Amino acid sequence: MTTPTHAPHAPHGPADDAATTPGASTDAPTGPARPALPGLRVAPANLRVTSPAAATTPPSSPADRASTPEGHPAGPRRRERRGADELRAVVEEAAPRLADASAQEVAAWAAEEFGGWLAVACSMADAVLPHLVAQAATDRGAATVDVLFLDTGYHFAETLATRDLVAARLPVRVVDVVPHLSVAEQDAAHGVDLFARDPGACCRMRKVEPLTEALAGYEAWVTGVRREEAPTRAATPVVTWDAAHGLVKVNPLAAWTFDELLAYAAEQDVPLNPLLDDGYPSIGCRPCTSRVAPGADPRSGRWAGLAKTECGIHP
Ligand code: SF4
Repeated sequence: MTTPTHAPHAPHGPADDAATTPGASTDAPTGPARPALPGLRVAPANLRVTSPAAATTPPSSPADRASTPEGHPAGPRRRERRGADELRAVVEEAAPRLADASAQEVAAWAAEEFGGWLAVACSMADAVLPHLVAQAATDRGAATVDVLFLDTGYHFAETLATRDLVAARLPVRVVDVVPHLSVAEQDAAHGVDLFARDPGACCRMRKVEPLTEALAGYEAWVTGVRREEAPTRAATPVVTWDAAHGLVKVNPLAAWTFDELLAYAAEQDVPLNPLLDDGYPSIGCRPCTSRVAPGADPRSGRWAGLAKTECGIHP
């Protein structure tokens, strides 16, 4: 596994692919890889925060954040990260109880249960999920929510602009999760346009492995996966144990339709990626995302013409 970098860039905010279903090529300015500090899987210096409030403060390591004072952009973490057995017990109790709960109730539970150990994955197709969780955290005086954005270096300009808007407008800390290799470095090491020849490998290096590294610093992550998005997502639970990443996975929007998502965005004045209105109901990397005909499967524009339907983040 390559070591990804996670970055704040100043200032700016469901990775369903970290990101969720609802791009000019940009080469991520990752710079040289930095070794992780002893005991940490990710070097804090490699985190890139986009939120203005946190722009001058690099993201802290999980150990640092265990004693982070209140008011720090990362929010207070007054206890150590719980282990797998404890977190599995949390899932066992909460999953049946919250199976039919509203998205707001689920977000409120997640904010209270996990505090500063909670991450929200966002593809910047829309900011509904960050808004929902940030609202719940704010209402309960919980820690500032981290929003993880997989900055693959291949995003549409509109997606990056949406990220900046989220960071500027929402009370969250946007953390860009950056691959170990820039696009240019990947081209040199694996050949130009790897996505066209081996999208599985490209997604693994630019999305799956970086996210896995980033999630090691949390107890739970929240995604925007919705059951209606695809047959592979039809049985998505609201709360579950994510064995692949070793933490709790929360899907507050599992039962929502796309119309409900848009209605929430309109009511709450939540930023939306303008590509949603331009024929892209599901937005990923620019080379692997096509316009979709009206009425067609919303995800049919992702890796169109290939058997691939998921990037591997949501097995
Ligand atoms: S979606 Fe395409 S460009 Fe993006 S990481 Fe996957 S294969 Fe690479």
